[in-house]
Amino acid sequence: MIKISNEHLEKYANEHYEALKDKIDIPDDELREIILAKTEKLLEVAQKHEKYNTKFKNRYKNFTTKKEEYNAYDLADNLQVNVCPYCNINPTYTVIKKDGKKITRPEFDHFYDKATYPILSLSFYNLIPSCHTCNSTLKGSEKFSDKTHLNPYSESLDKLSKFHLQIEDSTFYHSINGFELKLESKDNRAHNNIKSFELDTLYQNHKDIVLELIQKQAIYNESYLDELITQYEGTLFKNKEDLQRLISGGYISDDEIGKRPLSKLIKDISTELGMI
Ligand SMILES: [Zn+2]
Repeated sequence: MIKISNEHLEKYANEHYEALKDKIDIPDDELREIILAKTEKLLEVAQKHEKYNTKFKNRYKNFTTKKEEYNAYDLADNLQVNVCPYCNINPTYTVIKKDGKKITRPEFDHFYDKATYPILSLSFYNLIPSCHTCNSTLKGSEKFSDKTHLNPYSESLDKLSKFHLQIEDSTFYHSINGFELKLESKDNRAHNNIKSFELDTLYQNHKDIVLELIQKQAIYNESYLDELITQYEGTLFKNKEDLQRLISGGYISDDEIGKRPLSKLIKDISTELGMI
């Protein structure tokens, strides 16, 4: 759903390659091409280097072993993707204690599934840090490609879809049954992402957040906002935009919505309500 935003992606991709290069016995230039292929090149690379499938299949198992010198924890720790980019609901942070004990990390979804394309099982841009629900429960063995779905390393569902509020009756100020919440897109691939990860259905569990936004929009009217600005601008918050962000309770700038769960929902509904 949300594009993976990390200004050091290329650096970490290179570190990933450097850490793996002595562990897979194929010529360096070919390994480099396989590991560092960008999203739009993945399929082409998979077909070109098919003969190495088995070597990668075995290597991936080692990569997910905690004891391995460079493993999935190290990659996840570098990426710092704290919320699942597919759903923007579940946390995917990595925790490694000061004494080195590995506590938790995201799962890695293979955008091009590893059963069909073992060769891509360690390709940096094919490894999507994601939550268990998206990776294991929902996507499972479904086949994705750049023709059918959006890869969070290169594209964001945020730009191609919007949450909408549809008022049903007058109870909408105090009841989640008074309105409908919809997530729609006219883009085919975005639509497929929504469908594969059941986003429209899952978000129905978060209508309470939407209800709170409706209530806040009514409470924080223009005159109350002015009052708060007169009283606290420069002390509690920087300016009006900052106050509006505080009220909505989410990160709302495009490059920050991946930082906190449900920020996309909060941003879209706050915008629709005229709060931001
Ligand atoms: Zn998820």
